Amino acid sequence: MDLDVVIGLEVHVELKTRSKMYCSCKNEFGGVANSHCCEICTGMPGTLPNLNKEAVQLALKAGLALNCEINNRTTFDRKNYFYPDLPKGYQISQNEAPLCVGGFVEILLNNGTQSKKINLVQIHLEEDAGKMIHSAAEDRSFIDFNRSGVPLIEIVSKPELSSAAEMKAYLETIMNTMRYLGVSDCKVEEGSLREDINVSLKPNGSPHLGVRCEIKNVGGINNAARAVECEIRRQTEILESGKEIEPVTLRWDEEANKSSVMRKKDAVVEYRYFQDPDIPVIEISKEEVEEVRKSLGELPVQKVKRLMRDYGLTFTDAGLLAEDQEKIQLFEATAKTGEFAPQKAANWIQGDISRILNEKNIRLSDSKLTPQNLSKMINMIDQNKISNTAAKIIVERLMQEDISPEIVAQQEGLLQLSDQNSLKEIAEAVLAENPQVTKLFQEGKTNILGFAVGECMKRLNGRGNPVLLKEIILDLILTRGEV
Ligand code: ADP
Ligand code: ZN
Ligand code: MG
Repeated sequence: MDLDVVIGLEVHVELKTRSKMYCSCKNEFGGVANSHCCEICTGMPGTLPNLNKEAVQLALKAGLALNCEINNRTTFDRKNYFYPDLPKGYQISQNEAPLCVGGFVEILLNNGTQSKKINLVQIHLEEDAGKMIHSAAEDRSFIDFNRSGVPLIEIVSKPELSSAAEMKAYLETIMNTMRYLGVSDCKVEEGSLREDINVSLKPNGSPHLGVRCEIKNVGGINNAARAVECEIRRQTEILESGKEIEPVTLRWDEEANKSSVMRKKDAVVEYRYFQDPDIPVIEISKEEVEEVRKSLGELPVQKVKRLMRDYGLTFTDAGLLAEDQEKIQLFEATAKTGEFAPQKAANWIQGDISRILNEKNIRLSDSKLTPQNLSKMINMIDQNKISNTAAKIIVERLMQEDISPEIVAQQEGLLQLSDQNSLKEIAEAVLAENPQVTKLFQEGKTNILGFAVGECMKRLNGRGNPVLLKEIILDLILTRGEV
């Protein structure tokens, strides 16, 4: 049976505000249980919520970055249900007039050679619930309200993702965009990026959507990919055995790497939404929206496309650079001043430079590396003035001092010997002492040249120009061969 995969996501992104959504408690992950909560975020009767303006601002940024329309009058609604981690008995969410409607996420596929727009239904603001902690040892459950009232946005997509790979690209794009905007740090281990994954299958090409199942509350991107692959297999097996899909809600078990059915999906869950009388209608002017729009700058996906187009970088390198504004700046300035393929600058930045930054746990701006020096150094490699190995030593210095790579090369004796006569002298000596080289070469064992170059290098303390040396040795063997 040829089946199409259809996936729709509800992505929850916790916002990086200083305080919680409706009170002044710290919005901070972890801490001693129930150490940052108050009568508002624990839902005491008689308390009143006070909407966090920063949360609205961050949601606005997210919505504009994902091409949404902004509702200039937005309202907050109560979503009523009972659960021990929800002390008010309702969650303040947005139903009637969410802040952001429509929009799309542009994802890049097949190594950036293709792009696809995944349309959104809406992005709304809501508050997180507390956390239940089930203790098997003590045979009882606890509740930690530190997370209760943490602001989040829910990004609801249309069912337009067609594979696990597309879903991964979609989540990565959202994560990179949110991090870039400072909307969220999307830390998997802190649960600040979680998703409900809706999956259905349908006969290939059919215009009608199949019955969907929903995997609830999956954390991060890799888990989501595993969960969705597992669900596609489960549904495929059911359909191929001639049975029908029952609409169910599933739970993903990270450790066991498998899902289990939580409950049958009820026809319609009745949340009895109504506008929260404690929160006024929020009006956002067109001017305010435009101001935020102007502040967005170049978004990660635009950066990746530009780096690929303007500099011929690979999708992977463009993606890695796009994660760090300082690296992009260094890359572009270096590529513009040098006479080499820009990919070479990207390789140095992704390779040794990033490694040194990681080892020292510093950022580029904490180092002394300038685009001029990096560019000069790459030019020197290209002109055979220094070897790649020597450059690895030089770049360390360039990160500590604003010093010309030529001077470092001189000081440390790293300039390659390119003087024909002295190289020839050494090569002649090596060939004279190792007559087998000429013999083996003449028998067709051309690999022996590498050995001869190595012998010369030893005598030159590694400073010979290997390309030149190889030419000289070859020349010597061939002219002798004729005698
Ligand atoms: P619910 O209230 O049960 O979460 P919604 O109608 O709000 O349901 O839809 C939630 C998500 O389910 C959306 O992201 C949507 O794209 C997705 N979805 C809806 N129908 C399907 C389907 N047949 N297959 C896959 N995803 C679907
Ligand atoms: Zn509080
Ligand atoms: Mg849902």
